[in-house]
Amino acid sequence: MTGTAQWQQQAREHLFQPFVDNAALQREGARVITRAEGACIWDSDGNRFLDAFAGLWCVNIGYGRPELAAVAARQMQELPYYNLFFKTVTPPVAELAAAIAELAPAHMNRVFFTNSGSEANDSVYRMVRLYWQLQEQPERQVIIARHNAYHGSTVAGASLGGMAPMHRQGGLPIPGIEHIQQPYWFDEGGDLSPEEFGLQAARALEERILAVGPEKVAAFIAEPIQGAGGVIIPPATYWPEIQRIVRKYNILLVVDEVICGFGRTGEWFGSDYYDLQPDLMPIAKGLSSGYAPIGGVIMADDFATVLAEKAGDFNHGFTYSGHPVSAAVALENLRILRAEGIVTRVREHAGPRFRQCLQQLADHPMVGEVRAVGLLGAVELVRNRETRERFPQVGQTGALCRDLALEEGLVLRATGDTLLFSPPLILNDQQMDEIIKTTKSALDRAWAQLNPNR
Ligand code: PMP
Repeated sequence: MTGTAQWQQQAREHLFQPFVDNAALQREGARVITRAEGACIWDSDGNRFLDAFAGLWCVNIGYGRPELAAVAARQMQELPYYNLFFKTVTPPVAELAAAIAELAPAHMNRVFFTNSGSEANDSVYRMVRLYWQLQEQPERQVIIARHNAYHGSTVAGASLGGMAPMHRQGGLPIPGIEHIQQPYWFDEGGDLSPEEFGLQAARALEERILAVGPEKVAAFIAEPIQGAGGVIIPPATYWPEIQRIVRKYNILLVVDEVICGFGRTGEWFGSDYYDLQPDLMPIAKGLSSGYAPIGGVIMADDFATVLAEKAGDFNHGFTYSGHPVSAAVALENLRILRAEGIVTRVREHAGPRFRQCLQQLADHPMVGEVRAVGLLGAVELVRNRETRERFPQVGQTGALCRDLALEEGLVLRATGDTLLFSPPLILNDQQMDEIIKTTKSALDRAWAQLNPNR
């Protein structure tokens, strides 16, 4: 046995895969992806797919950039590993920290490195509590997050996240984390206008702060646009009200930039897009465009100063906090994103065009709403367009459309009955048109299957 059959068999017998029904996958066999270039991936049988999901929201720069491979090889030969614990630093890590500080909002100039977004959020959890301890307000322990948020799969990450299916496995969330309403107008807005609903959802934060006791609340954490929850773009009234509330009660604002960071919205950070003043920004994914695992927490100057001046030793870190190879790759990734004006192109061209293109799907009998910011997009599937009523078995139609699109060579994602798009930022117009054309075809075929007598 060789090739596809061999790899599938090895995976079937020896691999346990994330976020999937492993028994079902063992019966079906996994797809084997072997190669990628630009916005496309190929499987081991030579089939090409347009990747409208950039891997997992991460390959911002597109696949197959030889410059990133070259710096990784060079760094591996020169210095494959050294740590930051022993009062040392390595050149790529120092240079990357400076490059990130230059791109981040003006008041944020310091980075703590991790390997992933989950580790970044676990670090946030510890940093926030330490901060209030150092400020002599140790009773500020509660972190408020949102239902249906995604902040990672580690214990603190999954607890900060608001994914009920994750909480059900393993007794999460851990104590001291509270979840409030999400700003998901399409599903939860009822008869309110999006603007009214945005204010209501933001005021859920103030209500919870008052219920918990303002003196006990440490921080509020949120994604600028919820990604895994369904590319939930909050109404325009939401973020200004949140910013007002966190200021009023002197609560730390943690903006999870793991998806929105590094160009996804057409700005460098979601915080730029919404004009936010975060105290902490967890990052990962687009930082290295997924070519090497790396994440981090960008810290506001005031926050970092308190931790540096008052904590003594910071008793937290990972063997690979600031891995030199990942850092070299990330640095080259940022250089290319800047040098080629990739983020600007998303803001000025690709983003607005994508939003327009998605509108071509808005009249479909099964589509309740389309929405997009930058190269993040969503299509809501419904039984009744007027009332926004969902199909009885939520998730089935989304999965059907996703599978039909895959049959036609397009990778997208379905969360419940919401189709999600997050293509590489280098997507060209022709590829964008292909996404729309194939999605439309998948919608038509799903509609025909669901309504066989029409
Ligand atoms: N935060 C957000 C907003 C995410 O989307 C993700 C990953 N999808 C994470 C954190 C966790 O990142 P990682 O998978 O790298 O641990």
